[in-house]
Amino acid sequence: MHAPPSHRSFGNTQAGGVASGADHITPDCAGGNFYEIDRGLRDLLALYLEPIDFRRLEPHFHRLGALSGGRLDELARVADKHPPVLNARDRFGRDEDWIDYHSSYREMESIAFGDFQFHAMSHRAGTLGMDRPLPAVAKYALQYLFVQAEFGLMCPISVTDTSIHLIRKFASAELKDYLLPKMLSDDTATQWKGTQFMTERAGGSDVGAIETTARCEDGVWRLYGDKWFCSHADADVALLLARPEGAPTGTRGLALFALPRRMKDGRRNAYRIVRLKDKLGTRSMASGEILLEGAVGYLVGDPGRGLKQMMEQVNLSRLSHGVRAAAMMRRCVNEAMVCARGRIAFGKTIVEFPLLRRQLLKIAVPSEQSLSMFLFTASAMDRANAGSKEAEGLLRILTPLLKFRACRDNVPVATGAMEVRGGNGYIEEWVHARLIRDAHIGVLWEGTSNINALDIVNRAIGKSGAHRTLGEALAKLLDEATPIPSTFRARLRLALKRTLAFAERVAATPALEASARQVASSLYHVASAILMTREAAQPGADARRALYARFVLEYRLGAQDPLEPAAGDWERQAAEILFSERPVAIGDLAELLV
Ligand SMILES: Cc1cc2nc3c(=O)[nH]c(=O)nc-3n(C[C@H](O)[C@H](O)[C@H](O)COP(=O)(O)OP(=O)(O)OC[C@H]3O[C@@H](n4cnc5c(N)ncnc54)[C@H](O)[C@@H]3O)c2cc1C
Repeated sequence: MHAPPSHRSFGNTQAGGVASGADHITPDCAGGNFYEIDRGLRDLLALYLEPIDFRRLEPHFHRLGALSGGRLDELARVADKHPPVLNARDRFGRDEDWIDYHSSYREMESIAFGDFQFHAMSHRAGTLGMDRPLPAVAKYALQYLFVQAEFGLMCPISVTDTSIHLIRKFASAELKDYLLPKMLSDDTATQWKGTQFMTERAGGSDVGAIETTARCEDGVWRLYGDKWFCSHADADVALLLARPEGAPTGTRGLALFALPRRMKDGRRNAYRIVRLKDKLGTRSMASGEILLEGAVGYLVGDPGRGLKQMMEQVNLSRLSHGVRAAAMMRRCVNEAMVCARGRIAFGKTIVEFPLLRRQLLKIAVPSEQSLSMFLFTASAMDRANAGSKEAEGLLRILTPLLKFRACRDNVPVATGAMEVRGGNGYIEEWVHARLIRDAHIGVLWEGTSNINALDIVNRAIGKSGAHRTLGEALAKLLDEATPIPSTFRARLRLALKRTLAFAERVAATPALEASARQVASSLYHVASAILMTREAAQPGADARRALYARFVLEYRLGAQDPLEPAAGDWERQAAEILFSERPVAIGDLAELLV
C-alpha cells in the first residue's frame, strides 16, 4: 500500500510526502484528498462561485476529493488494465452485440451517474441537494476533481450531459418526452446514456465530407453508413450527423439524428459495433466502429442546421476537455511534488536542486494557468446562460483557447512529472504512464490543435470579433487589481495590446494562416496571466498566483535569448517563495512584480 502524503505547500498546491525509508521508494498521492490539498482550487471556487452555492456544494467537493484520491483512484488503476471487450454475437449466433466492462469500471459509473449524477446536474434540480441545476463553475470543478483519478469515463459522462443539452434545446416535444426522462434518470440500472458519432473515414476535421446517408422510408428515417470513431460505442442513444438523400453536399447538407440502441419494442436497432479500437490511452472506455444498416434515427431540429446544432455539443465538450487537461496537469503537479519532497539524491531532497525546481515550475505554471482559464470560462458560461451577451462573446473565444492550449500543455507536463519520479515513473504500476497515454487524446478529439486554432482565428476573431470582448474584460480586471504594483500591470496591459493587434493582423491576412497557433497561444497566455494577477489581488488570496503570472509574462510572452542564462535572479527568488511554506502577501512580492 502507498503511504498517504503529508501536506506541504507548493505555491497554492499542497502536496508532499516522505520517502518510505526502508525501500527508498517515494510514495505517490494515493490516499490524499484531492480537494483539500488544492489551495488554488479552494481559493478560486470562493471567488468564482456565489457564496451560497459554495457553502452548499463544498461538502461535495470534499467528498469527491477524498474519493478521487482514494477509491476512484484504485478503481481507475484496475479499469485501465482491464479494457472493455466486444462480443459481436450471442451464443445463438444472433447479432446482439454487447460490451463487457470490468467491475471496477461499473463501480466508477455508479459513483459518476448514480451518486454525483454528473450527467443531469446542469439540467435539473435535485442533484447534490441543489434546488436548481448546478452552476457551470461547480460542474466543471467536480469534473476537475474526478478526472484527477479517472479520465476515460469522463467521456461517457460528459457526452451524456452534452447530448441531453442538444435534445433539450433542439428536439421536438415528442422526442424530448421519449428520451429525456430516461437520460435524466438517477437510476443507474435503467438510465439511458448518450454519445456522439460524427467522424468517418472520409471526414474527421473535414466534417462536410462524411458519407452516411439518411433515407426517409415509410415516414421513418433510416441511416446507412460507417462511423469510424465512436467513443462510448454502446451508449443507449447516439447523436450523429448524416446527409438526407438529395441534400446539398458539404456541411450545409448535414442533419442531426438521435440513434437509439434499442427500438421501442426492445429489439436492437439496425446497427452493429464492428470492432473496438486498441487505443494508446483512455483504455477503460470503449471506442469502436459502427456500421449503420438501415438503423432508425429520429431527426433532431432543423435538417439544414445539423452541424450548427452539433457544434453546440462540440463546444461543450471542448470546454470539458480543457478541464480534463487541467485536472491531469494538477495530478502531475501533486505527484511531482510528492517525489520532489520525498526523494533523496546526493544527500539532499531533490526539490533543493535548482534544475529540478525549474522542471517543477514547467509543470506547475501551465497547470495553474489552466485552472484559472477553465474557471473563468465556466463563469462566463454561467453569465451567458443568465443572458449576458458580453459573456457569450467571452465563452465563444475562451472555449477553443482552453481546449487548444491546455490539451497541448498536458502532454509535456505529463512527461515532465514522470521524469521527476525517475525510472519508477516509466513503470505501469505508477500513475504516470497512464497520465502520459491519456494526455495525448486531448490534441485530437473535438478538433485537433490546428482545427481549434483556425476556429479561434477565422471565426471567433475574424467573424465574431470575440477577441475585442475578451480584451475589454481583461483590461477591466487588470484596472481593478489595484493591490498589484502598477509597473507589473502596465507590462501586462502592453502585452494584451500587442497580442490583440497580432491576433487581428493574422485574422485579416489569409497569407498568415500558419501563425494561427501562435495567436491562440499568445491569447491564452496573456489571458491566463491577467487572470492569475487579478486572483492574487483578492483579499486573503494566495499572492503566489501573481508570481506564476510573471513566469508566463517572461517566458511565454517575452523574447528569450538562447545564449544567455535563462534563470535570472528574480527567478531564483520567485522559486524560493513558491517552494516555501510561509503565507505570502502581495506586499512581499513588490520587488518581483515589476
Ligand atoms: C480515441 C478516439 C476516440 C474518438 N471518439 C470519437 C467520437 O466518439 N466521435 C467522433 O465523432 N469522433 C471521435 N474521434 C475522432 C476525432 O474527433 C478525430 O480523429 C479528429 O477530429 C481528427 O480527425 P481525423 O482523424 O480524420 O484527422 P484528419 O482530419 O485527417 O486530420 C489529419 C491532420 O490534418 C490536420 N488538418 C486537417 N485539416 C486541416 C486544416 N484545414 N489546416 C491545417 N491542418 C489540418 C489535422 O490537424 C491533423 O493533424 C475519436 C478519435 C480518437 C483517436
